[in-house]
Order: sequence, then structure tokens, then C-alpha cells
Amino acid sequence: MDITTKSRDDDKIILIIEGVDVPFVNALRRICMVEVPTMAIEEVDVYKNDSRIFDEVLAHRLGLVPLKTDLESIIPRDECDCEDHCPRCSVSLLLKEKGPKTVYSGDLTSQDNKVTPVHDAIPLLKLRGEEEVELEAIAQLGTGLEHAKWQPTTSSAYKYYPLITIDTEKCEACAKCATECPRGVLEFDEKENKILVVDPENCNMCKTCVKDCEMGAITVEGQEDKFIFKIETDGSLKPEEVISTACDILAGKSQKIIEFTEGES
Ligand code: SF4
Ligand code: SF4
Ligand SMILES: [Zn+2]
Repeated sequence: MDITTKSRDDDKIILIIEGVDVPFVNALRRICMVEVPTMAIEEVDVYKNDSRIFDEVLAHRLGLVPLKTDLESIIPRDECDCEDHCPRCSVSLLLKEKGPKTVYSGDLTSQDNKVTPVHDAIPLLKLRGEEEVELEAIAQLGTGLEHAKWQPTTSSAYKYYPLITIDTEKCEACAKCATECPRGVLEFDEKENKILVVDPENCNMCKTCVKDCEMGAITVEGQEDKFIFKIETDGSLKPEEVISTACDILAGKSQKIIEFTEGES
């Protein structure tokens, strides 16, 4: 397997993965989406809520606030031997505000500075006049298998790496394919009087070029063992953390299968 990074920023990474098949890349995609754990608010103790929003709705909203996650310093709740919650498995976020104002995610005060809201400007509720809200929210690790609030990815997808071939014997250099391509993948080189594939990774395989070529000179296919793999996160984890954790999980699953089959033989 060969992996190269096509692009990367704080919450998005695009990789080119070569030498694997669809089951492998799809397993990786699904693990990134629903098996890599993140922190999210799971319990809310509401001490005071004068606002017009019901406690349950407020708790649901709080649960959907993405939280920065440090996988090194926190363990899953069901692996902790504490009776209730403790700093090893849970993080408490406090909220105490008085109106008139709009209360935002940034008003939550976390007891652990590594676990804070990713965005400060998510509106939670409005307090009018002298209305007050006071609560304690408990965040813990979970996975998207349990609830979407624990999904670290907002997008986890792959596509075949496009293979665009131009048959120079048949091509009459009419440039129609380059003009009609909606993604700027093809360019007509006037000097050489030929079509160039300038940005194959941007091809969405719509095959407009194939339909428009009267000479049948152009073909577009997906390469069987090469993929463009994209991960976008909600900011709870860095995209490379999501992929490396997913690879560890996949390796762990594979190891279990190996051990099982060895035990059977
Ligand atoms: S449309 Fe067909 S014939 Fe015209 S330049 Fe493209 S590949 Fe060549
Ligand atoms: S398949 Fe679509 S996107 Fe790809 S090169 Fe042809 S026209 Fe452009
Ligand atoms: Zn604990």
C-alpha cells in the first residue's frame, strides 16, 4: 500500500491511497466515521433554567456542540472503575449566565482546558430580562455507533482515482472535450495541437467528454486499486488523528481475526 497526501489543513485531509481494494478503503472510511471516539456532552444537570427552551431541548443542543478531544488523557466511561464520574473518564463544563443575552457555546467553562468547545459562537439559548440559566454538563468519550454527536467526521468519503486515456490515433484535436469538461481536467495545447490531462484528480467521472467526443477517442475509468480518500472533521480531532486511530482500530480487528482463525486450525 502506498499513501500520499494531496492536501491537508486543520480540519480536512485528502489522501491518495494505492494498492488496496474497495473493501479495505470502505472499512477505513466507516471506522473513521463511527468507531473513532470523541468527546461529547452526555449528561446535563440543570439547576436553573428560566428561559423558554425546555431542559431536554437544551441538553440535546449541548450534546451536539463539538468538543476538542484529547484521546491520550481520557478513557471511556465503561473502562473506568469510578462509581459515578471522575476526571479520568469525564469532563465537567459549567454554565451560569444571566439575561438579557444570547448564551453561546463559548460561555461554557470547562474544567479541563484540553476539552473545550471547538467553536465559541454556537447559540445555545436566549435569556430575556432577568432570566437565568445554571447547569453542569458532563462530557465523555463515545463513538458514532452510539450517537451521531460522537462522530468526529462531517465527511468521510472515497472515489476511484480517475484514469483518462486519449487515443491519439483517433483524436482529431477538435478540443470539444476540453471546452465541455466542467472541472477543468482537460486542456487543449495549441502549440502541440493535442489534448492534455492537466488535473485528473479533479475529474468526477461525469463522462461528458466521452459523450461529446464524436471520434470515440477518449475513455474515462476508475483505477481498480487507487483511490482519492477525503476526511473532514468537526474539529474535535485533527484529520490525521482520525485516520491513524482508525488504522489502529482496523489493525486490532484484523489481529483478532488472525488469532481466531489460528485457534480454529
Ligand atoms: S473531443 Fe475527442 S476528438 Fe476532440 S479533442 Fe477531445 S478526444 Fe480529441
Ligand atoms: S469525465 Fe467529466 S470531469 Fe472527467 S474529464 Fe471528462 S468531462 Fe471532465
Ligand atoms: Zn471515571
